[in-house]
Amino acid sequence: MNAWKCAKCGAILGYQDGDCVRIKYKDLYVTISCLVGVASIDRVCRKCGYVNVLLLKRKKPAQTVTSLREVVETIGNDVLIQK
Ligand SMILES: [Zn+2]
Repeated sequence: MNAWKCAKCGAILGYQDGDCVRIKYKDLYVTISCLVGVASIDRVCRKCGYVNVLLLKRKKPAQTVTSLREVVETIGNDVLIQK
């Protein structure tokens, strides 16, 4: 797991583990995973305001998904869908 640091001031923005990024702030904890292809994450640094961009690439071969249900089943039980 590598620290994702602000390109301007070096503050830690999150932690990257391959095709997954974890961002924590107080009681907010977010995990972003790239399921297919490439994902772009923009994160404004809380310390200096610089807009950092991180590209996540899918490590495993891209998979074809046919429905949201299949995506959720791929991710597992860590997903809560709110209506
Ligand atoms: Zn910064």
